[in-house]
Amino acid sequence: MQEIPGEITLALSISGCPLKCPGCHSAFTWDGNFGQKLNKSSLIQLLDKYEGLLSCVLFYGGEWEADTLLDLLAIVRERGMLTALFSGLESLPESITSQLDFVKLGPWKRELGGLDSAITNQRLYDLRSGECLNHHFVKKDSSVELTF
Ligand code: SF4
Repeated sequence: MQEIPGEITLALSISGCPLKCPGCHSAFTWDGNFGQKLNKSSLIQLLDKYEGLLSCVLFYGGEWEADTLLDLLAIVRERGMLTALFSGLESLPESITSQLDFVKLGPWKRELGGLDSAITNQRLYDLRSGECLNHHFVKKDSSVELTF
């Protein structure tokens, strides 16, 4: 639930991100050969493993291999779960967004911070309603003002 508010989410990091944002928190995944192959059958195995425990599957990237991503999103949807994509791009083709319930857009910019920053450039949307969900993440100011 840390990534998508209210959804129990399996998050999959897709290696090979071409954007190379300075300060990327997972630069070790820029190499497309890093990690294990994710294809239709390995995704089905994962979903079988967590059957009944998940409500959403989130892909950290993968839009650079759109056809493969669309195949994987279709499998998730066929099993009745919600789909999410965190992308460093500012926008995505409709062919991808039409298969998503949630999308995060915008590259990582250290000076602006992530979703927990009030000045972040990144936006998380619920595409079913169009609502921006950033307010779920911004830390409230917990300081207490004392007056005498
Ligand atoms: S989009 Fe994400 S994974 Fe890709 S370089 Fe930027 S921060 Fe790293």
